[in-house]
Parts: sequence; structure tokens; C-alpha cells
Amino acid sequence: MDFPIVELLDDELSSQWLLKHFHPDGLKCPHCGAGVNQAREFRQTKTSQLTVYRCNQCQGIYNLYSQTVFEGRYFRPAQAVLLLRGVIKGQPSAEIGREIGVSRQTVLELRHEIQSLADQHQPQTRLTDERTETDEMFQNAGEKR
Ligand SMILES: [Zn+2]
Repeated sequence: MDFPIVELLDDELSSQWLLKHFHPDGLKCPHCGAGVNQAREFRQTKTSQLTVYRCNQCQGIYNLYSQTVFEGRYFRPAQAVLLLRGVIKGQPSAEIGREIGVSRQTVLELRHEIQSLADQHQPQTRLTDERTETDEMFQNAGEKR
């Protein structure tokens, strides 16, 4: 039985969680490295409800998903969290897709991206526990783009 759990997860809390895991040193401009405190809120994305920032240093724009596997995808933060959770738990793609309301194909694409990032990262890291593995995977999620 599938639960529509995406409705139960708060987007604001999900955003905070993603921020912590994707950007542990705080959100920064991916173009010039200036911190988000040197940017202004530019607009809100329609579907994802993400704040888009415009950097005061270089005028580049970015958001929470910049340089992550979710860049350019119209995921709400709650959907992103649930997808990551499903992939890490090894849940079938079709089931994840139904739970968060996206196609199985989309889940598969993201799963492959996440897994290849994890594989690339594995050799040079000594993993102490699953949490370390997960956090490091997220932190490196954008570097290969
Ligand atoms: Zn910048």
C-alpha cells in the first residue's frame, strides 16, 4: 500500500534539511562563492516554491538546488527529501514515484545520478557509518556537473 506521504511533509522543514545536507557551510553563490548574505531574494519559483537569489557580487542567480542532482527539476522540497530517502532505503523506483507524484522514469534518472555520485565518492572515503556516507554524497552532488 502506498501512502501519499508527500502531503504530510512540510516544505519549509524539508528545505532546512536539504540546506543542511546539500550546503553544510551555508548557501553560497555557485558562480563566485559569495555567501547568501551577499545576495538578495530575487523571486520564488512557481512549482518548487524555492527562493531564487541574485548575487550582489556577480549578479548570478541560484537557489537551494543549484549544483545538486535536483538542479533544473521542479521538485518541491518535500518531494526531494522523500526521493532521497527512498533511494537510500533501496525502495523501488515505481513506488517512490507513486508516493511523491513523479514518473518512475524521473525517479530512475535521479537514482542513477545519486548512485554514480556515491560510487565516485566511495574509493577515497573511509565510511564510518551510513550517515557519513549520505552526507558526503549530498555535499558532492553537484561537483561533477
Ligand atoms: Zn556570485
